[in-house]
Amino acid sequence: MMQTFQNYIGGQFLDGAAWFDSIDPATNTVWARMPEARRDDVNAAVAAAKAAFWSEDWAGMTASGRGKLLLKLADLISENALRLAELETRDTGKIIRETSAQISYVAEYYRYYAGLADKIEGAHLPIDKPDMEVWLRREPVGVVAAVVPWNSQLFLSAVKIGPALAAGCTVVVKASEDGPAPMLEFARIFDQAGFPAGVLNVITGFGPECGAVLTSHADVDHVAFTGGPETARHIVRNSAENLASTSLELGGKSPFIVFEDADIESAVNAQVSGIFAATGQSCVAGSRLIISNQIKDAFLDRLKEKAEAVVIGAPDDMKTEMGPLCTVAQVRTASDLIAASTAAGAKVITGGLPMEREGNYFPPTIIDCSHAPGAPCLTNEFFGPVLSVRGFDTEAEALEIANNTAFGLASGVFTKDLTRAHRMIRGIHAGIVWVNTYRAVSPIAPFGGHGLSGHGREGGIQAALDYTKVKAVWLRTSDDPLPDPFIMR
Ligand code: NAD
Repeated sequence: MMQTFQNYIGGQFLDGAAWFDSIDPATNTVWARMPEARRDDVNAAVAAAKAAFWSEDWAGMTASGRGKLLLKLADLISENALRLAELETRDTGKIIRETSAQISYVAEYYRYYAGLADKIEGAHLPIDKPDMEVWLRREPVGVVAAVVPWNSQLFLSAVKIGPALAAGCTVVVKASEDGPAPMLEFARIFDQAGFPAGVLNVITGFGPECGAVLTSHADVDHVAFTGGPETARHIVRNSAENLASTSLELGGKSPFIVFEDADIESAVNAQVSGIFAATGQSCVAGSRLIISNQIKDAFLDRLKEKAEAVVIGAPDDMKTEMGPLCTVAQVRTASDLIAASTAAGAKVITGGLPMEREGNYFPPTIIDCSHAPGAPCLTNEFFGPVLSVRGFDTEAEALEIANNTAFGLASGVFTKDLTRAHRMIRGIHAGIVWVNTYRAVSPIAPFGGHGLSGHGREGGIQAALDYTKVKAVWLRTSDDPLPDPFIMR
C-alpha cells in the first residue's frame, strides 16, 4: 500500500508545495509519496528555527536541560530502531543487517552529545590590564541548515543535530530527495522527546528548489553539508549570499594499502568490508587497493573468491550481504567508468557489468589497473562496489600512489611492522588512518577530510564547539574615571 510522509516544520506535520514519488531500489517501483518543500516551505522552516532559537523555551533552557532532552531522544531512537531501519532499507535499498545495526548506534551519538551539552565551557583570560576582567562566553552559532545525502541519513544527520542542539542551536534538516522516508519518520520520533517547537525542522525536496533556497537563506548562520564535491561547490556559492560558515563532508577515493607482511585473511576481510559492505555506497569506501607485488596474485585470488561468494539479494532479507544501488544513475556511472577504464588498459578480474535481474543490482567488481595508471576508475568516486587495484614494489611507491588523489578522507594500512605503520600514518594525506582495521567509527572520534573530501570534523568534542561562537566580555573593575579617551586602552 502506498505510504505518505510529511515535512516537520515548527512542531507541525505539513504537506509540501507538491508531491514526489519515492522508488524502491530493489524493484524500481513507486512505494511512497513524499512532500516536496519549495521556497515557501523552506522559508517557514527557517522562520520556525529562528523563532525557536530566540525563544525563552529554548534560549532560556539550561545546558543540562538540553542534555536531558537529547538523552530522551536517544532512548526513543533505541525503542524505534527497527522501524526506522526497515524504512531506510525500503527507501534506499541498504540491507537491513546494516541499517538495523547502524540505527542502534545512532542513539549512541545522541547520548554522547547529551553528555557534552553541559561541558561546553567558556574561559577566563589572564588579561594584561590590572583593572579589567575578561572572559569568553561560548554561545550557539544560530540557525543551522543541515543538508544530507541519501545514504545513512539518520547517521549523517545525527552528527549534525546532536552537537548543534547540545550547543543550543536550532536546525533545519534537508533530507535527500532519494530515500527521505527514514528522516521524515525520525521527525515523528523527535516530536515525542519534548523539545520546544521549531528547535528541529525536517523537510525534503530537490537541490535547486529546496537545498539552494535553504543554504543561501539570510537567516541561516551555519551550513553543515554531507554529499558530493560538485554539490559542495553549489553550497559554497550559496553561502556567498548569507556568509554562513560551512562544514563540508564530501566523498573519497580512499587508499587501502596492504604490505607483504600483513595478516592476509584479516586484510582480505577488511577489504571486503571496505568496498562491498553497503554495496560500496560509503564515503569512506576503501576503493583503491594498493598491494605489494610480492603477494598481489595470492591476495587477489582470495579476494575474488570472497567477492564471488557475497550473498546478493533483497535488502530486507537478514541473510543478504549486498543489496541494490540506490539509484539507476549509479548503475550507469559504474558501467561507464568501467568501460572507460578497460579501454584505457585496465583488466576486470570479477564483475564489471550490471546484473540481469530486477532492481539496481551491480555485482562486486575488482578491476586491476596496474598497467593502466591513467584509468578513470582510479580517480573517480563510484559510490558502488567497484575496487580498483594497483601493485607496488617499495614503501615510497605505495605512499606516492596512495596520495595521488584530490580526495583526503580515509585510508587503511595493513602491516605488522610497527615502525613502517608509523611512517605511513605520518605520510598519508587523509583525515582518518585505520591501521590493521577498516570502517570503524565512534561518536568519540572526529571524522572528516580535506581537499575534495571537504573541511570540518564531525564527531568528538570539537564538533560541538564548532556549533558555537565566542563572545569576548570586558568588565572594568576600577571606580576611577576613564582616562584619556583618545588613546586605545
Ligand atoms: P549529493 O551531493 O548529490 O546530494 C547531497 C544533498 O545535497 C541532497 O540532499 C541534495 O538534494 C542536496 N543538493 C543538491 N543540489 C543542491 C544545491 N544546489 N544546493 C543545496 N543542496 C543541494 O550527494 P548524494 O549523491 O546524495 O550522496 C553521495 C555523495 O555523498 C558521495 O559523494 C559521498 O561520498 C558523499 N558522502 C560523504 C560522506 C562524508 O561523511 N564525508 C558521507 C556519506 C556520503
